[in-house]
Amino acid sequence: MAWETIRKAATPGVPPNLVDYAQTCSDFTWSRARHELDGLPGGTGLNMAYEAVDRHVATDRGGKVALRCVGRDDTVETVTYAELARRTARFANALRLLGVGRGDAVFTLLGRCPELYTAVLGTLKNTSVLCPLFSAFGPDPVEQRLQLGDARVLVTTAALYRRKVADRRASLPGLAHVLIVGPGAEDLPGTLSFDMLTAAAPDQFTIPPTSPEDTALLHFTSGTTGAPKGAIHVHEAVVAHHATASYALDLHPEDVYWCTADPGWVTGMSYGIIAPLVHGVTLVVDEGDFDARRWYRILAEQRVGVWYTAPTALRMLMRTTLGQEHHNVPAAYDLSALRFVASVGEPLNPEAVVWGQEVLGLPVHDNWWQTETGCIMIANFAGCEIRPGSMGRPVPGAEATVLERGENGRALITDGRVTEVETPGVEGELALRPGWPSMFRGYLHDKERYEATFADGWYLTGDLARRDEDGWYWFVGRADDVIKSAGHLVGPFEVESALMEHPAVVEAGVIGRPDPVAGNIVKAFVSLRPGTEPTAALERELLAFGRRRLGPAVAPREIAFDQNLPRTRSGKVMRRLLRARELGLPTGDLSTLEGST
Ligand code: ATP
Ligand code: MG
Repeated sequence: MAWETIRKAATPGVPPNLVDYAQTCSDFTWSRARHELDGLPGGTGLNMAYEAVDRHVATDRGGKVALRCVGRDDTVETVTYAELARRTARFANALRLLGVGRGDAVFTLLGRCPELYTAVLGTLKNTSVLCPLFSAFGPDPVEQRLQLGDARVLVTTAALYRRKVADRRASLPGLAHVLIVGPGAEDLPGTLSFDMLTAAAPDQFTIPPTSPEDTALLHFTSGTTGAPKGAIHVHEAVVAHHATASYALDLHPEDVYWCTADPGWVTGMSYGIIAPLVHGVTLVVDEGDFDARRWYRILAEQRVGVWYTAPTALRMLMRTTLGQEHHNVPAAYDLSALRFVASVGEPLNPEAVVWGQEVLGLPVHDNWWQTETGCIMIANFAGCEIRPGSMGRPVPGAEATVLERGENGRALITDGRVTEVETPGVEGELALRPGWPSMFRGYLHDKERYEATFADGWYLTGDLARRDEDGWYWFVGRADDVIKSAGHLVGPFEVESALMEHPAVVEAGVIGRPDPVAGNIVKAFVSLRPGTEPTAALERELLAFGRRRLGPAVAPREIAFDQNLPRTRSGKVMRRLLRARELGLPTGDLSTLEGST
């Protein structure tokens, strides 16, 4: 491997939560992890919102700042844990008043405003089921998800409601209540004012008994490889959120923490709301969108210590800061509070890990998980070495393996049995042993699909990976994206990652294009650094660069320049769309395509 292993010194004064990986794994049990949480008073169960909010108030930590919400206009609203307890109690009471109860689905369609956090946690207190929608979804995806998820309540704003829901109300007979945050409810028939309802409701609420198996959250997947699926999660998931945030994000109670993912996606919920609040940290919430200078400013001004973001965002920062400005970044912004950086969602190319080390003064810790797993499953830990390009090792409590794959790239199942790959470095389907607390309990209305994800006592992730001799996992690709070319199996990530090391390339998306001789040839779509011309000479140079790095069997045979690679709203390159466009095939479900309405 071209990159040195990074040995990270622990942050002075902050010993990592996980120091000895082997020892921690062998000592760990989920039931011990459960005991780090309080449970509902009187032993009446386990409720995410109690753990995230009320227990801090019950133990004299109510005065601590829970949320620091940075508005688009840079105004900052702070909310203490005690205040959050009152606001969420009011919302839970309001729901109860409306006759909304256990198991009823409450959807949010909101930007990252303080009311979103009230609605999410208040819903959980009321033992209703929360389903967050990304506020940039257009009317079709919103309607589709409200229908699929049997929405009873929608919390949104007047503008979003008018643009995306009002016309569709007739097709949503189950949608009993629409609550409008901010002004405008009075002009919108069939809606109520969130502010008036909550203002009138009492600020004390006793959380009803909650079974750890009660449904808490419904999350739609990113739709990277097909139509989004609704994954069902239960209150017990909070045990895994808490434990993994401790190990993989190294959260300490005194931390200021920023997760840049929108709560419309599972990362923004599990690690953007639940886990950090359960840890009692101060959570920075940015209502604004990505902007390199804004992000550096927030990191600096809010004194962010722990930062959880996505590879695309890091690559956008790399694009902004490289060149002339490269060395100015740390000087212009005081990032001295930053002590831990992690990323998730897509492969983190080694160059981005090393960039973190050089520019932020910290390497980026990649970790891997899915909407279905509900929590981080494989991670690079604060106290352990990083192998750039590797997603790390299973979190304590997780058992992972690599399964031999069959013709279609997925695990080979023979008479119901699978075979684990024993040889290090051999690719196969990544699988996990079911039984961790935040494991999804089903796909909404799709039992068959859910059952098909299990074989021989394993949960099959649909991702391909290899494990090295020391147990580090390396992401190869999604089974659906893997390219068979002249008898080789090519993972697009490997090719993309190599191309991104070329100074002219910012991002790449790689697909297989059918070819009568090779079966498929590898084709790369690349976006270039601003100011770089897409010339035939550069194309030749990139082809040669690819061959040198990857060898002729894996290197791209064709390069196309594309400054707007299609990506999901959660930031992932949509290779299936690149492929469909290239081959003139139907484009499939585009509800999560960035920029679509
Ligand atoms: P869909 O299932 O609808 O196609 P999706 O799989 O993108 O969408 P998510 O659950 O949001 O939906 O994403 C999980 C997937 O993201 C993983 O299965 C994996 O393919 C990819 N992923 C997540 N983290 C990493 C990582 N650190 N490295 C590589 N890939 C990752
Ligand atoms: Mg998926």
